Amino acid sequence: MDDSSPQEGGFWSSLVSLFKNKNGHTLEDAIREALRDGELKSDDVPMLLGVLRLQRLYVHELMVPRTDIVCCDVADGFQEVCRLIVEEGHSRIPIYEGDKDSIVGIVHAKDLLGILLSGCEAKPDLTQIMRPALFIPENKNVRDMLHEFLKRRQHLAIAVDEYGGTSGLITLEDVIEEIVGDIEDEHDTEEPAEIQSLPDGTHLISGRLELEEMNEAFGASLASEQVETIGGYLCELSGRVPRIGESFAIPGFSLTIKEADKKQVRWIHVKPDAKDA
Ligand code: ADP
Repeated sequence: MDDSSPQEGGFWSSLVSLFKNKNGHTLEDAIREALRDGELKSDDVPMLLGVLRLQRLYVHELMVPRTDIVCCDVADGFQEVCRLIVEEGHSRIPIYEGDKDSIVGIVHAKDLLGILLSGCEAKPDLTQIMRPALFIPENKNVRDMLHEFLKRRQHLAIAVDEYGGTSGLITLEDVIEEIVGDIEDEHDTEEPAEIQSLPDGTHLISGRLELEEMNEAFGASLASEQVETIGGYLCELSGRVPRIGESFAIPGFSLTIKEADKKQVRWIHVKPDAKDA
């Protein structure tokens, strides 16, 4: 990089310093400094930081977990895949043989239109219309994932764990959302907020709320090596999925399971401890 660049200013000299490894600043620091100096617009900064964050994120942090993958057994056939597309609003449906660990391809909604238009009574077997699935390790770096999507010209990948089992699904949209924020498409239904404040000063939180976000929102300091969500954390504490009505004390709060089933905690009631007078 040329020091005598005509664009030289706070931001550019920071970049020059960065590339020369002079002042130990990170590129993030340079971007924030440029915002302070008015050299970058505040709208652009979250996107720039988002791009840089991709290299610190892993697929398992963004993917839709295995339990939420909308997929269909190859034996269920054409009609079932059409029903899932219409009812669930996803345009790509993974197809498995027997169970979710054996995904054999992906059916794309667009590929069904020609078949439906042909008016032919006999519908093809799903194996004839599905496309190959892209499998990637769940611990793949999200920046590399983005490059892989672009290189392979694919928009969806199946994440697998170290034993080759299906652990989740990730699409190009999940990666792009890390840069530009949530993208609501025409078919998205509004999800309830993961933290809801109730009129009596208590809160309702989703079992899927990440520990990091929980700590940020409530000033807590929960940590786990094993799990990422508060629902997972309470399962870890109990050694099983806790039942509705069970309570847990964490510093400053009591947490009560509001909604859960055999497999997961869905909603938790958070009550701040009464302050000593
Ligand atoms: P679509 O519009 O077909 O749902 P996108 O790539 O826009 O596909 O993805 C939107 C969101 O839906 C993403 O979070 C993605 O992970 C999720 N998603 C896409 N396909 C499926 C599927 N078959 N099952 C579960 N989630 C899916």
